[in-house]
Amino acid sequence: MLLPPPPARAATVVAADGVLCDLSRTLADGLITVVCLLPASQDPHQAALRPSDRQVLAQSDLVLVNGYGLTPALSKVQGRRPQVAVAELAVPNSPSFEGAGGVRDPHVWHDPRQGAAMVRLIAARLAAFTDQDSRLSSRSQQAAGVLTDLDAWTARQIATLPPPARVLASGHRAFRSFARRYGIRELAVIESFSTAGLLRPQGLNQVSDALQRSGARVIFPDRLPPSKALRRISQRSGVPISSVALVADGLAAKASYVDTFTANVCTFVEGQGGSCDRPGGQQLARRWAAIR
Ligand SMILES: [Zn+2]
Repeated sequence: MLLPPPPARAATVVAADGVLCDLSRTLADGLITVVCLLPASQDPHQAALRPSDRQVLAQSDLVLVNGYGLTPALSKVQGRRPQVAVAELAVPNSPSFEGAGGVRDPHVWHDPRQGAAMVRLIAARLAAFTDQDSRLSSRSQQAAGVLTDLDAWTARQIATLPPPARVLASGHRAFRSFARRYGIRELAVIESFSTAGLLRPQGLNQVSDALQRSGARVIFPDRLPPSKALRRISQRSGVPISSVALVADGLAAKASYVDTFTANVCTFVEGQGGSCDRPGGQQLARRWAAIR
């Protein structure tokens, strides 16, 4: 006797962090249900799962995580299928941290070409859950086109800085991919000298000297108000803290990946004394939002 076919059930895909959420929804809107686990502006490094999150994960068909240890809280959780570590698979050559046993930087989306690689990988994985593959691949191509133009736009903004000013001093070591792509020196003023964000007096002197020599006009915090350690470094070195933070992880409030990226570029370039084409950045964000 033949059993009746199982009732059709729409697939559910879980995107772990704010960046994956925006990339996945841009591709899947109206085709596949994407549940975003962490709020877009939540710090994925520190995220803890609630019981309701575990339930969502257990019932999902596909779980997209960044990988490279970005969300430790999710590393022990299994859904119906193995998790897909999007950044690890799409960008296997993420820069590694010196002296950290080859640990690679998880923040790969700060290079838009690497963001495009993440988009292509997500589109390939989502294709199993919809019969509208041609729409999915059309959106993937549109997204890649916007990200190619975002890369070129970013290079033009960085070019407004004289080479000695192309230095990014921040309180969170998250911009290695950005620095590698655009020829910027990254100076992580806390994590490069101390693991716990606490500075011993000799660490403070060392980091202040390095900052003063670096060409950094400001230190970029990754949250406001800035941490006490960052304020001490600023006082000691005389290098002020930027009044605008860089978004190191997740997305800015109510902003897409492209909005967040262009805002970061303008914050960096203007903070270091260059100029930023904000209308051009807004146009890229509108094209991203219009992907259908
Ligand atoms: Zn981070």
